[in-house]
Amino acid sequence: MVLTVEVLGVIEENAYFFIDDTTNHGFLIDPGAEAERLLKIIAEKNFTIEKILLTHGHFDHIGAVNEIQRVLKIPVCMSKSGNYYAKDSATNCSAFVGEAIVLDDVTCLEDDSEIILEANKNFGVKLIPAPGHTLDGAIYYSAREGVAFVGDTIFCGSYGRVDLPGGSYSALMKTIRERVLTLPGETILYTGHGSSTTVAAEKAMWN
Ligand SMILES: [Zn+2]
Repeated sequence: MVLTVEVLGVIEENAYFFIDDTTNHGFLIDPGAEAERLLKIIAEKNFTIEKILLTHGHFDHIGAVNEIQRVLKIPVCMSKSGNYYAKDSATNCSAFVGEAIVLDDVTCLEDDSEIILEANKNFGVKLIPAPGHTLDGAIYYSAREGVAFVGDTIFCGSYGRVDLPGGSYSALMKTIRERVLTLPGETILYTGHGSSTTVAAEKAMWN
């Protein structure tokens, strides 16, 4: 089950709970702001969040990470280049928009890592490397559930900006063509901002 929570920091951003219905365990993806509200949802719904997963290290996707990690004491996972953003408030852009954010305790995972729930070995996501919007872009994909959490790589009808540290237009186009549009057409793409879309819908625009 996917629960979308639109959180409001400096800008609106989509945080996602990706929860295994059989165990109520799951992952929290991109808690960008409103830590208290997200923690309240976890308590009310009796979710056990095993890991926080970050699609990339921009300020608007990581703003609630430290507070939630402090309370739940769980790993925070990023791609192998995550520390470039996690450890530097200039590259994650938080220094320019408000309070500087640094994440001290992140686990950087290799490309194509499988992140599996401890409570259910059949439930998990694969980390697909997705550079372009940032160097450290990651897509979390579940073939079984037919969903992909794509961060700011692609949006419904558009794609992420490439003018921030580590951004690259050519890398983003390569990621979208080779790693997003090659997923099964019915895959739901849960985006970092705005409404979700599908691979088939976006493919129609790109071909
Ligand atoms: Zn971003």
